[in-house]
Amino acid sequence: MINRQSHQQCIEPECLARYALDERIYACSRCGGLLDIETKPTAEVESLKKLWRERRSSFEPRDLSGVWRFRELLPFTDDAPVVSLGEGNTPLYDAPGSARYCKLNSLKLKHQGANPTGSFKDAGMTTAVTQARLLGTRLVGCASTGNTAASLAAYAARADMLCAIIVPEGQVSHAKLAQALDYGAVVLEIEGNFDDAMRVIRELAEQGNIYLVNSINPFRIEGQKTVMIELAEQLGWEMPDHLVVPGGNLGNSSAFGKGLQELLQLGLLDRLPQITVVQAEGAAPFADLFQKHRNELRDGEIPSEIKNVARPKTLASAIKIGAPVSWKKAWRTLSWTQGRVLTVNEQEIADAKAIIGRDGIGCEPASATTVAGIKKLVAAEIIREDQRVVAVLTGHLLKDSEYVINYHRGKLTVTTEAVEPQPITATFGNRPVSVKADAVQIREQFQRLLDLKVGGPT
Ligand SMILES: *Cc1c(COP(=O)(O)O)cnc(C)c1O
Repeated sequence: MINRQSHQQCIEPECLARYALDERIYACSRCGGLLDIETKPTAEVESLKKLWRERRSSFEPRDLSGVWRFRELLPFTDDAPVVSLGEGNTPLYDAPGSARYCKLNSLKLKHQGANPTGSFKDAGMTTAVTQARLLGTRLVGCASTGNTAASLAAYAARADMLCAIIVPEGQVSHAKLAQALDYGAVVLEIEGNFDDAMRVIRELAEQGNIYLVNSINPFRIEGQKTVMIELAEQLGWEMPDHLVVPGGNLGNSSAFGKGLQELLQLGLLDRLPQITVVQAEGAAPFADLFQKHRNELRDGEIPSEIKNVARPKTLASAIKIGAPVSWKKAWRTLSWTQGRVLTVNEQEIADAKAIIGRDGIGCEPASATTVAGIKKLVAAEIIREDQRVVAVLTGHLLKDSEYVINYHRGKLTVTTEAVEPQPITATFGNRPVSVKADAVQIREQFQRLLDLKVGGPT
């Protein structure tokens, strides 16, 4: 059943047009603005914390999901045909090595790579594909740098729907492509980059050929906002001083802002963390926007346009995006949380990634922008060493193993059309050692290891 208590609403302050939840639109048909979903909690707010906690000991499929466990704040009725893979419930790790690297007393990493298909996309895909099922959709699709494709392919398979994804040819990691193929999606490789793929699929969606589940779809954002509820619960309903997240298409930063704002308005939180969005230097239109318009943040003004990056460049392929669809919602997040945007370079990303690995955690390159960014913010005294900081890791280490091996072997390079390949220094490299199958030789290696002072980079 379609929920009639909730509705879609244009985010543009002068418009605020409303649409029913079963209207299959991706933008306001009056002004073209992005759409939000407005939902009222379906239970007494006072009872929610207890209810959500109690569900942790339940085996009902919805209760086992770290998204549907919070369904009172989702725009679905109780009989919704939920498509779930048991997403969410991701760990919040202490990362002492990463904290030392950033010169913080402590640092926590919320690992969204621990989702069923290895990225945070699952948290939004479970709600978007459930909505697709409610609408009676046969064919779902997305444009993707890899993780959205892997996630959608899995959820579509679970829902027994057809799935088509459009990816930039030769730019998706093998692991992500392998997932999409194995889950049975039709993979369409286009000449061009992610932004080209996004443009084409939006056109197809607007013509009604396909149900689009990129993060422009507000049902994705609803699922992803629950990450903030889960984090709040893990931290005893006290948010940290700073929350740091990578930014590509900016769906995640939009969802986090929306989730936090709702928790604040319901009185489930007293204060919000400052959200920092980190982009890769070569794909940083939102950071550029922030530089130009940061003074307007305080009065809640949204800039009228963003300057896209025509040829985004970064080895962190998940955030190699030059025309971020959700930038207005992400801007709102900055104004709600007194947030900021900054950039990090390829070397900083690669080194931070290796440091996160040494904590026994690991992540994909895009995720490591967070730790690289935190290091810069501490150095700039924007974050104090005793403040509470949480970084959100967005994807699993094994999503891009070629990058990892190249880094540790000292063979990672950044290629651009104009200049020679730029080598990345393996600052924390860990090369495999070739030895004979001989106990004496191998024992020498052990001894060398033991002779090293207490290990680990500082
Ligand atoms: C999708 C993705 C991002 C970017 O998230 P946005 O919501 O597009 O900003 C970052 N990291 C990983 C691993 C991703 O898969």
